[in-house]
Amino acid sequence: MSAYDDDNIFAKIMRGEIPCVKVYEDDKVFAFMDIMPRSDGHTLVIPKAKARNLLDISPDDLADLMTAVQKIAKAAMAGMGADGITLQQFSEAAGGQEVFHIHFHVVPRWSDVRMRPPASAMADVEDLKKHAEKINTAL
Ligand code: 5GP
Repeated sequence: MSAYDDDNIFAKIMRGEIPCVKVYEDDKVFAFMDIMPRSDGHTLVIPKAKARNLLDISPDDLADLMTAVQKIAKAAMAGMGADGITLQQFSEAAGGQEVFHIHFHVVPRWSDVRMRPPASAMADVEDLKKHAEKINTAL
């Protein structure tokens, strides 16, 4: 497995070098809207710790990350008025990973509404801001 790359796009987002629509941040984690959401409110939750994916993150950092994932999932349920949550995590290219800083996808779901296909469309930033505010308000 390759080493962690400090220039991956999510590291740049956390350093403020690339813009994002932020949902939540504390000393351990950062959460922001996926730019090509598979449903309204699709949020990415990442650790501040440097890890490529599930295979190299330390257990302590993973525990902190999962605590944040649950917090965002609950806020997404309440804030977005969702019926359920789909959680996704891809490790290594063969596992479907495209950005090599570990992230969990928190995807709000509604009964009988299918997820949009991966990378189907870039979201309108104003929509992302509205969804982020709804989730943030429910935290
Ligand atoms: P994965 O690595 O889990 O396959 O997917 C990476 C995810 O990051 C995709 O859902 C994609 O839409 C999202 N993504 C890729 N580049 C950016 C970006 O620059 N900003 C944001 N907000 N999301 C991104």
